[in-house]
Amino acid sequence: MKSIAARCLMCGKTFDVAEDHKDYSKLEKRKDQPTFVCDMCGYKIRYEADEEQKPKKPM
Ligand SMILES: [Zn+2]
Repeated sequence: MKSIAARCLMCGKTFDVAEDHKDYSKLEKRKDQPTFVCDMCGYKIRYEADEEQKPKKPM
């Protein structure tokens, strides 16, 4: 399977993105400096977005 070394915009780590990744075709078009958001950071963003939807609990 082919893969592309892409840097995560959030944590700055470089990951090998495999051919079956949803962002692979996007990364393939940007061979100079492929960037994406890794699964871990993507999860974090979604989690934080969910948290902001919720009403704040009084401390
Ligand atoms: Zn990341």
